[in-house]
Order: sequence, then C-alpha cells, then structure tokens
Amino acid sequence: MHKLVIASGNQGKLRELSALLAPLNFEVHTQAEFNVHEAEETGTTFVENAIIKARNAAEQSGLPAIADDSGIEVDALDGAPGVYSARFSGPGASDTKNNELLVEKLRDVPEAERTARYRAVIVYMRHAKDPSPIICEGSWEGRILLEPKGQGGFGYDPYFFVPSHGCTGAELSAEEKNRISHRGQALQLLVNKLQQLH
Ligand code: IMP
Repeated sequence: MHKLVIASGNQGKLRELSALLAPLNFEVHTQAEFNVHEAEETGTTFVENAIIKARNAAEQSGLPAIADDSGIEVDALDGAPGVYSARFSGPGASDTKNNELLVEKLRDVPEAERTARYRAVIVYMRHAKDPSPIICEGSWEGRILLEPKGQGGFGYDPYFFVPSHGCTGAELSAEEKNRISHRGQALQLLVNKLQQLH
C-alpha cells in the first residue's frame, strides 16, 4: 500500500479520491489525521495555491501529498473571481453572497457575453521538496445565468449554465457532473499518471 495525504478536510473529496485510488494500491489519509495546520492560500494562480497546500501537507505529514485548487473565471470580469472564488464577497463569504455579487456585476452584460469556465488543478508531490510535482488541470465551459436553476452541486453551480447539456451544473446528477466537470477531468488525468508511477 502506498500511503498519501490529501490536503483537504472535505470528506466528499476524500471518499472520491479513495475510491479512485484504491485499485492502484493507494491508501488516502486526510491531513487532519496528521494535525496538519492549513496553509494560507497566498498564490495568485490555481497552480501556485495547489502547490502551496500540497507542500504544506507533505511537510507536516511526511507523506506524499495531493492538493487541489479550483474556481470560476468569468470573461466579462477579466477572469474574476478566479482563485478568489470561495472568498469573492469578502470576509464572511458564503455561496449565497458570492452568487449575489456575481449576478450584480453581470446584470448589464448580455447573456452571450457571460461566458465563463470552471478550472481545477490537482497536484501530487512526492515530498515537500519535490522539484517536479505532477500537475493535472481540467476546465469546464459555461455561461452565467442571472437566475438560479437546480438544487444540486454547490458554489456557483445554480448559475452555471452548461450549453452541452442545456441545464445548469446544479441540475446535473452528481455522477454526470463528476464525469464532465473540471475536477472530474483533472482527477482522471491524475489517476492515469499515478497508474504509470507504480
Ligand atoms: P477551493 O476549495 O479553494 O478550491 O475553492 C473553490 C471555490 O470555487 C469554491 O468555494 C466555489 O466557490 C468555486 N467552485 C469550484 N468548483 C466548483 C464547482 O464544481 N461548482 C461550484 N463552485 C465551484
């Protein structure tokens, strides 16, 4: 068994990653099991933030580490909120407040110009000083709506219209979203690369 640590406390992410990596003989642990103190996400790119988190987890746990960073880029806002997606509306940000701010900023932008994409970066670092982390990226194209639709997903999903499916991210089943999403794509790439490692 190859042990690794995931730099996230999110149980959903842990379950998803464990299921994907178990057949490759990886045993996935959360950073909380090693009392890892969370790293501050000081990067201005998804890659930087993912590396900061993975390096921090590898350093404090002594194990290889995986971390991800993701967000949404809106073209009419020059790529904002980007790496600040979770914190878009400032201190005390919530999905509701973030979405309210997004809609407010796009209110006068015609629908055709409300193009956006989710991005996800997942990195794997063999150890804290690994000079060449494995970096996997995924992106998922859509358009921002001004009214929410659907109950599933999280974050910006009710406002993220997916043209290929004619519905929002919040109207897709979890399975379908995982199959096509930015994170699903990046995860699949990572699994393929780890398969080649061992
Ligand atoms: P992270 O946990 O630091 O990667 O922050 C990602 C943030 O980007 C989340 O809090 C959401 O606001 C947004 N985000 C990333 N992926 C998704 C998604 O699949 N659906 C909705 N929002 C997402």
